[in-house]
Amino acid sequence: MEASRTLILATHNQGKVKELREPLARFGFHVESLPEDFPDIAETGTTFEENALIKARAVAERLHLPAVADDSGLEVDALGGAPGVYSARYSRDWPLLEGESTDARNNRKLLASLEGVPEEKRTARFRCCMALVYPSSLKDAPADLVATGAWEGRIACAPSGENGFGYDPLFFDPELGRTAAELSREEKMARSHRGRALARLLEELEKRRG
Ligand code: IMP
Repeated sequence: MEASRTLILATHNQGKVKELREPLARFGFHVESLPEDFPDIAETGTTFEENALIKARAVAERLHLPAVADDSGLEVDALGGAPGVYSARYSRDWPLLEGESTDARNNRKLLASLEGVPEEKRTARFRCCMALVYPSSLKDAPADLVATGAWEGRIACAPSGENGFGYDPLFFDPELGRTAAELSREEKMARSHRGRALARLLEELEKRRG
């Protein structure tokens, strides 16, 4: 396998790894995970694109391999677009209940923040920006690629479903009549912000292959 077909998935988020690994492998990449001891990368950007590029660049340069990173989050209209790029850290100011995960705490804060907001005003969307970055040490490295995707829905009044990660149990897709956590991985990837961003990224790569 040529070195340029090896790709690092630049994330410690196992939810993202589960969604991205298989489609990238099907496209012909030899996909490797980020080493567990890879230091945390400060997401200092103010947009999904900036953060995706920061993460992919940091990994590509340190490991001398092409890297794919995504930055994603939830925009809730009734909250002025929050939590947005801060989605992972949304409830950092709330104490964790015993045995509670950060995802569950984020969902608890989201539900509390939307208490009393009627269904038609609970509109929201997931956004994703995905970046493929090549290490500068790679001879004749192709240009970096960036692609985006969005998924429209609304925030349910109670969590439902066991699949996925993050805000999936609260993100209701009105066309399907189910939350993201009630979808199989394949169903979610066919509609999701991450699935769409990945499809666009792979389309661009396909064009390059000619
Ligand atoms: P990032 O690692 O900075 O991109 O953080 C993304 C955060 O946004 C995650 O930790 C989740 O809270 C949320 N998020 C992004 N994509 C999804 C998704 O597909 N389902 C549920 N939550 C998501």
